[in-house]
Amino acid sequence: MPTVREVIVIGSGPAGLTAALYAARANLNPLIVEGIDAGGQLMLTTLVENWPSYRDGIMGPKLMEEMRAQAERFGAEIVSGNVTNVDLGRRPFTIRTSDAEYACRALIIAAGASAKLLGLPSERTLMGHGVSTCATCDGYFFRGRPIAVVGGGDSAMEEAIFLTKFATHVTVIHRRDALRASKIMQDKAFANPKISFLWNAEVEDILDAAKGEVTGVRLRNNVTGEQSELAVEGVFIAIGHIPNSSLFAGQLDADPNGYLLTVAGSSRTKVPGVFACGDVQDHVYRQAITASGSGCMAAIDAEKYLDGLPRDLNEPASLESAR
Ligand code: NAP
Repeated sequence: MPTVREVIVIGSGPAGLTAALYAARANLNPLIVEGIDAGGQLMLTTLVENWPSYRDGIMGPKLMEEMRAQAERFGAEIVSGNVTNVDLGRRPFTIRTSDAEYACRALIIAAGASAKLLGLPSERTLMGHGVSTCATCDGYFFRGRPIAVVGGGDSAMEEAIFLTKFATHVTVIHRRDALRASKIMQDKAFANPKISFLWNAEVEDILDAAKGEVTGVRLRNNVTGEQSELAVEGVFIAIGHIPNSSLFAGQLDADPNGYLLTVAGSSRTKVPGVFACGDVQDHVYRQAITASGSGCMAAIDAEKYLDGLPRDLNEPASLESAR
């Protein structure tokens, strides 16, 4: 049986690192299991202009580096590894990665969300061969080429604007005739001469899976039914995210989209001692700053929970059986 920690945090984005910072400062000696996408979604962004205190903005990866160092400064311990299994049915809770097992009295889930895909077979075949979900990671490969961005939200606008640094032209393909993106992002995208828009357009296929490279997209106008092809050499999918909650299916409650449910005004899940924060739980705000805020709530909730835990319940009989 591994050493029983007071607090384990799953995930190392803004929610997880803030939870760890607060838990460390409360002397709870937190362990963070960082996950495969260490640092979370901000590692895949460029300039973050809406993080309070950086008036000129800060690069996403730099912000995460600072958060990580700050949590470590107060004693948070970070281990790499992706959690493959959790047992919330007995105490202490156990968490397994492919090569280690951990145990804790309180668990903070900050597992974040992952990029949503269109679900086309060609998208999967061509992923990494002209199809991408990360402009920051892959934009450079598309220097001097025409590309398309799919989506109409802030992510799609951000990616499209960023990609104009490399691409000859960026076509935004959106399934409706109005963007979901914030006004400021819309204005920036509309003002960019290298960006154009295809409205009411759905991607039916990404060409050409047989060739193993992207040569274009086949589109269907969902108002007229008309089909067309657009020649591009890269396709960036920016249609939102899905919460990384499948690990907890059957153990915690989630909404129909998979977001973990918490008691209103708190980070408490239905299992006492298990808390959820950030994008795995929040389908409304989904901002780095709100993720951080909910990470702080989770650490405070965990601290209160541990404070109120009678010692005899703290290490119940199941601990013995788990040994
Ligand atoms: P989002 O706001 O959910 O937008 C997703 C977009 O993709 C929508 O336009 C949606 O179309 C479209 N879409 C979804 N599923 C699709 C499908 N199967 N096929 C085609 N199109 C599809 O997601 P997001 O843009 O990733 O933003 C998420 C959150 O992060 C938001 O709160 C956003 O404000 C925030 N964010 C902020 C910034 C910033 O401030 N700089 C940058 C990035 C993200 P419909 O519009 O028709 O639903």
